[in-house]
Amino acid sequence: MEQIEMLWEFQQADMEADTLETEIKRSPTRLALKKNRDFLLEQQNLVKQIEEQVGEMLDRVDVIRDAIVLQQDQLKALETRLSENPPESLEEARAFAHDTQKLIGDIQSYEQEMKRIQQDAADHEREQKEIVVRFARVKTEYEKQKIDYEEEYKEQMKSLEDKRRIAQEKGKDIDPQLMERYLTIKKHCVPPVAKLVNGQCGGCYMSLPSVTLRNLKAGTKVIECESCGRMIIPL
Ligand SMILES: [Zn+2]
Repeated sequence: MEQIEMLWEFQQADMEADTLETEIKRSPTRLALKKNRDFLLEQQNLVKQIEEQVGEMLDRVDVIRDAIVLQQDQLKALETRLSENPPESLEEARAFAHDTQKLIGDIQSYEQEMKRIQQDAADHEREQKEIVVRFARVKTEYEKQKIDYEEEYKEQMKSLEDKRRIAQEKGKDIDPQLMERYLTIKKHCVPPVAKLVNGQCGGCYMSLPSVTLRNLKAGTKVIECESCGRMIIPL
């Protein structure tokens, strides 16, 4: 059998194997499995994020608690000073009142912030618990799907291997240079080989220049379509 005929038959077997490989990748079971796996990963990340956020919140609560204690001490000190050295002028009394108000105001806003954070932390923890439930449900489904898919996948891979073996068998006597060319073209054009059809490229249906046709008929070299880059064979 001539090289180009072998190449043509090899291409058919190679395309069949590729088609099956694509089908395997697009299998609904596989996609569903992947979707669930992505979901599980996403939930895991979400839990991690929530844990970090809650951790930061709890740190902030500690800081606020210390700040409140400090300001309460200052307030007490101010009150002591006030009872020991009562203000002697209106100005002094106003300054005392101003300092006291400021401390009380600060303490109140810290307390409000603390309450807000505790509420947020509680919300986060609840959310986290919901995620754990959701996670467990999807995980069970995922494990089941995985077992089912493993069966399916094993069978599919077996027929893919058969198809690849057939292609390999058909390609084994093809000139290595020709094969390399085929593989190079295949990277950007599939199928990489086209027949000559009425003076046109059988891949993209562009008419070939007469000089190209002459070369092709003379069989001097392998011709590539100037339009799509396919290898054209005179079959
Ligand atoms: Zn073409």
